[in-house]
Amino acid sequence: MGVIRGRFAPSPSGRMHLGNLFSALLAWLSVRSAGGVMVLRMEDLDPDRCRREYAGQLAGDLRWLGLDWDEGYEAGGPHGPYLQSERTELYAAAFRSLEERGLIYPCFCTRAQRLAASAPHRGDGQETGCRCKCLTETERAALARTRRPAWRLTVPGREISFTDGLQGPYSENLLRDCGDFILRRSDGVYAYQLAVVFDDGDMEISQVVRGRDLLDSTPRQLYLYELLGLAPPEFYHVPLLLAPDGRRLSKRERDLDMGALRQRFTPAELTGLLAFWAGQLDRPELADPAELAKIFDWKKVPRADITVAL
Ligand code: GLU
Repeated sequence: MGVIRGRFAPSPSGRMHLGNLFSALLAWLSVRSAGGVMVLRMEDLDPDRCRREYAGQLAGDLRWLGLDWDEGYEAGGPHGPYLQSERTELYAAAFRSLEERGLIYPCFCTRAQRLAASAPHRGDGQETGCRCKCLTETERAALARTRRPAWRLTVPGREISFTDGLQGPYSENLLRDCGDFILRRSDGVYAYQLAVVFDDGDMEISQVVRGRDLLDSTPRQLYLYELLGLAPPEFYHVPLLLAPDGRRLSKRERDLDMGALRQRFTPAELTGLLAFWAGQLDRPELADPAELAKIFDWKKVPRADITVAL
């Protein structure tokens, strides 16, 4: 096996929160402990949600903690550009190759349903009642005069199975558990599922470490790897951090965003806390990412979500 190529692929749609940082630290430790290459890609596909200044802030917050990267945003490298907003032509070519094989059809469902598909955290194919696949050419042409369609990928009734490095075996029937999913929104923006697969393949990423909320996206992504003829990485889906009331931390939890965290903690304090939650330290004590990389062990990382009270 060659050198591990890992990545952190945040969406610059707000200040990072503790959960984002937890995933970033684990991705970084996994790569650095194996002497691998770290890539930072900005997933700023959605022009309604993402902003350039958040990308800069995000890079600054990672560096503040002591996390670096060899390739990617601000660092450059042979697989650029590293901002998804600058890679539209590449997604268009991947999309066309699927379209030419008759695997994609227009969907004229409502805007609310379509926009739901742009978020990576839901099974967009599970929307019920979409009959767009069965429309005749005449019906499509008539509808196209009134509305711009989104575009869905036809999926087979096939079981896709893989073994997650942390969560173990996982399997999903694409048709039954997910359904035809959106690859391009009606406003022309390519969907997360297409972009993330194309980019990880194109950037030769061999290890993906990310939040457990994306575990159920993985079968769809494995199917796209297959269709696009790209080599899939190995996956590690890490626990989510939960607020004491059981809610997942989100960018709306302003009290746990990096702005507030940087005022309350030093990098060593915060690294120690994260490493404790990640099972790498017996108690939260001052720690340094580079030192942790020397003792990092996936076997100690818990699988279940972690409730944090700060
Ligand atoms: N950009 C996605 C997010 O911030 C993560 C994508 C991934 O790691 O596959 O939620």
